[in-house]
Amino acid sequence: MCRHLAYLGPAVPLRELLFDAPHALCRQAWAPRDMRGGGTINVDGFGVGWFPDGAAEPVRYRRATPIWSDPSLAALAGATASGAVLAAVRSATVGMPVTEAAAAPFTDGPWLFSHNGKVTGWPDSMTALAERLPVRDLLTLDAPTDSALLWALVRQRLRAGADPGAALRETARAVSAAAPDSRLNLLLTDGRRVAATTRGHALSYVVRRDGVTVSSEPLDDDPGWEEVPPGHLLVATRSALDLTSLEAS
Ligand code: GLN
Repeated sequence: MCRHLAYLGPAVPLRELLFDAPHALCRQAWAPRDMRGGGTINVDGFGVGWFPDGAAEPVRYRRATPIWSDPSLAALAGATASGAVLAAVRSATVGMPVTEAAAAPFTDGPWLFSHNGKVTGWPDSMTALAERLPVRDLLTLDAPTDSALLWALVRQRLRAGADPGAALRETARAVSAAAPDSRLNLLLTDGRRVAATTRGHALSYVVRRDGVTVSSEPLDDDPGWEEVPPGHLLVATRSALDLTSLEAS
């Protein structure tokens, strides 16, 4: 089920994360090592969001095709460097549309968001939570998918003043209560902070070069990669990283 990554640190070419690293996102798309919950490869689209140097808001590039088949991406990724990146490749959940708008990252203002997983009982299990959203948010969902609705729920908490970690933690808890056994690996950044949850899928991180990389699967064989335990929230900046249980208050 989908793979995603986020990077905060000194500017690197996007190609490094997407193509050049030994187990870069492109490789994780066609040869993932740890797929859970259905799906074998990630061919149903991809997206990359990055902050240009000094920019307050990210640029996003998404397509509904496999990441390796995009004729423009390699050149774009070679010519573009950034110190804040979130990227994802998608394996659509059965019954969900394969469209560009359904590919992560979802974005609004400074935020980039991705979901790796699946909401159980979709869509009925989400009725009560969706009813609490402004109708405008429901009408402007990127796509009729669980991931797009999760983004609307996270964004509502961010608008209410929650920090990224709290927004993900509260959303994961609320969705797990409404739809038990959902797989909810969420990933969020505003270019300064990154937050990520592990619920139902793998996630690893490495701290190096004054920066942090968080990825569904390690990008290389650096022994510094650590696995985030299941049921945890990771919150990091370029210089600090914190792991807590999702159940902690
Ligand atoms: N359920 C989401 C979708 O279909 C994410 C799928 C995944 O993680 N493979 O877009």
